[in-house]
Amino acid sequence: MNEEQLLKYAREISTNILGRIAIADLTKEKGAEKLLAEIGHILDQYSLQVDEVLPDAVLNHYFGGADEATKALRDIVDKPKPISRIIHEEAVGNIMDDTMMDMQSAIRTAKASAVSTVTNALDSVQGDIAKGLITGEPRKVMQQHVAKSFEAEGLTAFITSDGKKLPLDFYAMTVTRSKMRHASIQGNVQRYKENDQDLVQIIENDDSCAVCANHNRLVVSLTGETEGFPTIDEIELPPYHPNCRGTISPYAIDFKSSKEVEQALARNDEYVEGEDPRTEEQKKAYEKEQEARRRANEEKKQYARWKGVMGDDAPKNLGAFRRMKRQDTVKFQELQSEYRSISQRISGGG
Ligand SMILES: [Zn+2]
Repeated sequence: MNEEQLLKYAREISTNILGRIAIADLTKEKGAEKLLAEIGHILDQYSLQVDEVLPDAVLNHYFGGADEATKALRDIVDKPKPISRIIHEEAVGNIMDDTMMDMQSAIRTAKASAVSTVTNALDSVQGDIAKGLITGEPRKVMQQHVAKSFEAEGLTAFITSDGKKLPLDFYAMTVTRSKMRHASIQGNVQRYKENDQDLVQIIENDDSCAVCANHNRLVVSLTGETEGFPTIDEIELPPYHPNCRGTISPYAIDFKSSKEVEQALARNDEYVEGEDPRTEEQKKAYEKEQEARRRANEEKKQYARWKGVMGDDAPKNLGAFRRMKRQDTVKFQELQSEYRSISQRISGGG
């Protein structure tokens, strides 16, 4: 399993737990206990996979970054120094520790939130049944109630400082993608330092967000030893966000003309923290791309839901589904009403 497959695994945890709720007999204490044990087990299994997959993934991204740096160094030095194990082991070890600490604490939080959500939902629904506020077949009513609470906030992995509850799959994706980019950049950084290449230039795509655009083409000093250039404490290196595509490349000042150095210094002077230097056109292009991505993502999720509910009745692949939806064909409308009626039956009309 690689880290992307691990993210897919994380996305399936909720569905998996909802499946257990759907067959649990929560009218009996034993049934509720069994469900809680199963949820614990599902999250323990995930935790084991995280332990197995993520350290290796960090290692791969880190040394992938170091290899990139070696290639870039070959253009500016005759013979890059061999890789020193001590330097890199420490750097990569720190990133692994951070990554694992974030993930394991997220899993612990998710476990606690799942248990308390299910327990609270059970308590409240039992109370309502006892008071006669809810009628219907108790087993079904309880399953539905617990499933709804669980879907709403059963797998909270992290609570932000402003009180936002982040679900486990989303949080795992954010941590994993950011840490992998970070590992790759750090592989570059340590390799450059090892070869006394102090200056690096931040390179971003043209279609980037405000933060990336603001850092594009800045030249910074890794150690603070080159006068006239900001350090990486003053100007951070990428990644600036999950899925950030920013990279760094060595800035070999000895090979630059005085005019080129002047231009680099002038670019550095333009930098204002927190500013968005993009033209209106660039902003629009970026928004448009984000919108297309959001839509594609939405369609992907919707297709997965259709597939889950309608099985072989659903379009046979995502591409077919997309075409049908974008053209809003009659077949699409028929399938849409089929999906709605099935899912209403499942959730008991609610
Ligand atoms: Zn960006």
